[in-house]
Amino acid sequence: MNDLTVTRQTFDEVMVPVFAPAAFVPDRGLGSRVWDTQGRDYIDFAGGIAVTALGHAHPELLKVLHEQGSKLWHIGNGYTNEPVLRLAKRLEDLTFADRAFFANSGAEANEAALKLARRVAFERYGADKAEIISFTQSFHGRTFFTVSVGGQPKYSEGFGPVPAGITHLPYNDIEAAKKAIGPQTCAVIVEPIQGEGGVIPADPAFLKALREACDQYNALLIFDEVQTGVGRSGHFYAYQDTGVTPDILTTAKALGNGFPIGAMLTTTDLAAHFKVGVHGTTYGGNPLGAAIAEKVVELVSDPKVLEGVRTRSEVLKGHLAKLDGRFGLFTQVRGKGLLIGAELTDAYKGRAKDFVTAAGEHGVIMLMAGPDVLRFVPSLIMPLDDMSEGFARLTKAFGEIVGANAQAVSR
Ligand SMILES: *Cc1c(COP(=O)(O)O)cnc(C)c1O
Repeated sequence: MNDLTVTRQTFDEVMVPVFAPAAFVPDRGLGSRVWDTQGRDYIDFAGGIAVTALGHAHPELLKVLHEQGSKLWHIGNGYTNEPVLRLAKRLEDLTFADRAFFANSGAEANEAALKLARRVAFERYGADKAEIISFTQSFHGRTFFTVSVGGQPKYSEGFGPVPAGITHLPYNDIEAAKKAIGPQTCAVIVEPIQGEGGVIPADPAFLKALREACDQYNALLIFDEVQTGVGRSGHFYAYQDTGVTPDILTTAKALGNGFPIGAMLTTTDLAAHFKVGVHGTTYGGNPLGAAIAEKVVELVSDPKVLEGVRTRSEVLKGHLAKLDGRFGLFTQVRGKGLLIGAELTDAYKGRAKDFVTAAGEHGVIMLMAGPDVLRFVPSLIMPLDDMSEGFARLTKAFGEIVGANAQAVSR
């Protein structure tokens, strides 16, 4: 046994303090339930930040983990492996894409996408076509390039000069996009539903306008589907329900159900600009991650699972409507599939964190998306009983906040 005693307090003593984790320490999970080190159980509406799309400890994923884990974990990119080739085939069968590059995270998938777009423009049109357009409130990862492209200045400020050639435009603003996209534009990167930025869906007309402007000026359209992908929207990728096809798509989060893996998907023509040695990674495409992701893709792409996401979406929105009917908490509930955001009314503006904390105290794991929005991104196969139990607990938790608020107002 291990004789190192650790608690939540240890976090503050041994970790770089970029996170402020909850007071409890999760220890194990099964489906949409999690138990902490004290044995308390939680209903999981967060899925490890939209990652564990098939819940915790899924038996078929465990089987693959054990089988591939006893065969080969890692071999390096001087050699290929069967799991990664099967994974690429599956993803390409499901999408517009016919080439894949594998990485270990969403940020790295976006880094690859942005570098590919820059390389394509450089080789086809010259050094001046380098502008990358993205949108305010967007989130594309935490590497220095992706954080600079992302539309939340608080994440990129204070690290010295940012890479040049990045323009931020308002999201869903067709006129602004039409005005800004031009011959200098190399790529436009957009989330079909902004996740971290507050669960804000793109208008289909906005995406269509981006596609048209990109076509007009030979710019590439990149869809960041790191959060919306792998079934989250009720379609395997969210673009498939927009009528717009990107040139490059990035995917991660749910792709490995918690095993770190990301991918950039694109076409043969574009992929040809990444010649041997132009880009790379040590772990990307390793057989263990690829085998797990292949099983995830197989399971999630089942039409019954995707249909189940759309059904659960309605059930979850129904629970939120009931909560709202009782307490009057939300100005809007929005999103698609099982990426749902509930924006708090003025009375609770800026207090999403309080709701998340209260939820934890009542046995619910959940998320916010900025200070004003509660975010629900549970397992795509969450049992409906667990969902009901979760909302029963949230009713108690939120009732306490509402009660305290009413007292404060009447004093
Ligand atoms: C989470 C996220 C990322 C970053 O992914 P990491 O795996 O944390 O690097 C990028 N884009 C979007 C849309 C995301 O939601």
